[in-house]
Amino acid sequence: MFLQGWMERMSHTVRLEPSGHTFEVADGVSILAAGLEAGFALPFSCRQGVCRSCRGTLLEGEIDYGEVHPAYLSEADRAKGAVHLCQAKPLSDVTLQVRELEGLAGVRVAKIPCRVAEITKAAPDVSIVKLRLPLNENMMFAAGQHIEFLLPDEKRRNYSIASKPSIEGVTQIELHIRHIPGGYFTENVLSKMKARDLMRFEGPLGSFYLRTDSQKPVLMVGGSTGFAPLKSMCEQIFERGLNETRPVTLYWGARTREGLYMLDIAEEWALSQKNFRFVPVLSEPTPACNWSGRTGLVHEAAFSDIPDMSAMEAYVCGPSVMVEAARSSFIEQRSLAEDAFYADAFLTAADTAA
Ligand SMILES: Cc1cc2nc3c(=O)[nH]c(=O)nc-3n(C[C@H](O)[C@H](O)[C@H](O)COP(=O)(O)OP(=O)(O)OC[C@H]3O[C@@H](n4cnc5c(N)ncnc54)[C@H](O)[C@@H]3O)c2cc1C
Repeated sequence: MFLQGWMERMSHTVRLEPSGHTFEVADGVSILAAGLEAGFALPFSCRQGVCRSCRGTLLEGEIDYGEVHPAYLSEADRAKGAVHLCQAKPLSDVTLQVRELEGLAGVRVAKIPCRVAEITKAAPDVSIVKLRLPLNENMMFAAGQHIEFLLPDEKRRNYSIASKPSIEGVTQIELHIRHIPGGYFTENVLSKMKARDLMRFEGPLGSFYLRTDSQKPVLMVGGSTGFAPLKSMCEQIFERGLNETRPVTLYWGARTREGLYMLDIAEEWALSQKNFRFVPVLSEPTPACNWSGRTGLVHEAAFSDIPDMSAMEAYVCGPSVMVEAARSSFIEQRSLAEDAFYADAFLTAADTAA
């Protein structure tokens, strides 16, 4: 009797709407972790309670909201039932409304050993890292997803895959990594990284990926190395000819000309690809940039060029302040549908500490 009562308190049942999927969540485990473990395709990105990718709505039951700063989940949001699944733990059986992911058939998350194949500088503060995966790995991923390096002391760092996926899977991936002064990974690990070094990562991860079954015109906005997942998406779009029927507009911003570290590639797409428009934007051009293009903040350039985003799908990636500013201005003032805004905020230890 006692044992049965104890067992009952050990877990709660979570039901997802509208799918009707159910799974058990043990005490102390987040709904996201338990749902992923049970094999359901739940949306997520930062897993720190910040980025909102895993947001759902509580329909029934009681929840411990976990460690989420009111800046990312306000009292008003909670009053409407908003929950961040990566932090939330059920206190009773609960029912939640969650937008489960589609289009990830064949994508399997795994811990994968890899070797650094090549590391080159594309700009003074941007490295292009190519990783070679075991030949039998054939990693499937969706364009836009990221991997998470598994580092000593249980540290983890996320990087978006910049190369395109393949239906047979890939054995090499490309990453674009910007050096952050004082950063654990970029200052201590990346600076010493060399070809043939052995690394481990978990992936592919995240719900920031190109929805290939949609017909909506695509708006992409990237800040700095936020170009990486957008490059993967563009390459997939062009390879499959999806731009024949879906116009694509890419805004890419950096502080100076050097920060647009693959400008030639994007300019070449603009010349060769149908229905593709590219708008590079610099926020702090210097005379050395010799820049006659757009200036200002990259999301503001898209905001001022496109008065009505109601028919579009937006893919926004880069520093979290840029992502948050784009999210609120595109949805509130440009009529972008809330469920047509996809984003990966490149959160660092400073963001999560703040
Ligand atoms: C989904 C996702 C995808 C990403 N993809 C990319 C990508 O493709 N390319 C890319 O360049 N980046 C990407 N990032 C960011 C990346 O994961 C790292 O956060 C970034 O490279 C910095 O890591 P770091 O270890 O060098 O710095 P960190 O150790 O995270 O430190 C960053 C800064 O914070 C400061 N800091 C550290 N601890 C604290 C603290 N407690 N309080 C205040 N300040 C502190 C450090 O001094 C440093 O200045 C992505 C992030 C996410 C979440």
